[in-house]
Amino acid sequence: MTILPSENDDYRDLNEFSWTREGWLGSACILTPSGAEELSSAVKTLVERKTPLEIRGGGHMPIGDAANINSTGVLIASSKMRLKELSEDLQTLTVGVGSS
Ligand SMILES: Cc1cc2nc3c(=O)[nH]c(=O)nc-3n(C[C@H](O)[C@H](O)[C@H](O)COP(=O)(O)OP(=O)(O)OC[C@H]3O[C@@H](n4cnc5c(N)ncnc54)[C@H](O)[C@@H]3O)c2cc1C
Repeated sequence: MTILPSENDDYRDLNEFSWTREGWLGSACILTPSGAEELSSAVKTLVERKTPLEIRGGGHMPIGDAANINSTGVLIASSKMRLKELSEDLQTLTVGVGSS
């Protein structure tokens, strides 16, 4: 899903997700892929088009440019990638990159 700044509540919630204002940079738009394939496709497309991008996992990193980007680029937020799955033998836990 692509969320534009004009989509006020959704955009604001995702842009201001970080616990610190340093991370609220106001990207041109925010992508919320639902899985690894969508995430991969988004990264490939943006790189091909030389579009600056930033990827956010849990959004805990406080450094401004680490997990957000200003209006010159696109933020990919992993907020929909929060799968947590325990294997049948209870030996392996698979955790989505957007889990926090
Ligand atoms: C108060 C505080 C205490 C902390 N304590 C600890 C601690 O005790 N131990 C510890 O190990 N760390 C600690 N940290 C550091 C913190 O855990 C790291 O910043 C960690 O990266 C946060 O994970 P996140 O998923 O929130 O990543 P984010 O903040 O979302 O991203 C961190 C970096 O990873 C990149 N990234 C995210 N997802 C992807 C992806 N799918 N592909 C490629 N790159 C990606 C981002 O672009 C960014 O550069 C602390 C940080 C703070 C602010």
